[in-house]
Amino acid sequence: MQGALGSGADPTSIVAHLADRTAKVQNHYPGALAVDDFLARVEVALAAYGFRGDNSLALTNVCRDESTGILKAKIDEIFGQAFNINGLGGVVTCGVTGIGAGISHAPIDPSGRERYVFFAFPHAAVDEKGEPASIYRPGRAEKSNACGALLFAVNAVKEGGIEEDSAGEHDPKEPEGSILISRIKEQMRMEKADPKTIDVVEMTKVSYSLLRNCALCCTSSRVPL
Ligand SMILES: [Zn+2]
Repeated sequence: MQGALGSGADPTSIVAHLADRTAKVQNHYPGALAVDDFLARVEVALAAYGFRGDNSLALTNVCRDESTGILKAKIDEIFGQAFNINGLGGVVTCGVTGIGAGISHAPIDPSGRERYVFFAFPHAAVDEKGEPASIYRPGRAEKSNACGALLFAVNAVKEGGIEEDSAGEHDPKEPEGSILISRIKEQMRMEKADPKTIDVVEMTKVSYSLLRNCALCCTSSRVPL
């Protein structure tokens, strides 16, 4: 196929296109990096502490959306097959049992040390016009959304507010969705975020903070930090 990104495209136009796309993403998410750039930095930084692909195990926690597969595949290329703790919206739903399983599978070095690398992310789309949450999926003419679970969370808090409700419980028919909303509400209360004005970009940032807290909570309960 010929075109801006086709095999016959002018390399200069490809660079300009990628620079434009990067700028549109960073407009909503300052500091965002391309996946290869990010993972190269991670690999180099962790190598300084003795983490290599053959002596470490990655645990990945991202949304179930197939569009996150590119990132997961690249993590697998570096650290081998990762232990999967994915949940809708990237919320950690596997609990200490799931985390505990993940952190008992890494190679054990001669000194008895095990090395784990946690990757936990919300995900987001920004289309070619710079519109957040907009994504076109293969074989579907209509525009889709990403992250749909975080858009679900935006609508839930706009309609229902962020007051605590049945904390610690979840809907058996909607386990991940109900846990996601409950934890998003908790995080928003901590941040004193306004549910009436929040948009999907801000919700993605709330989710990012939530993931950091969840990862620390689950791992600290299983690993002496
Ligand atoms: Zn998603």
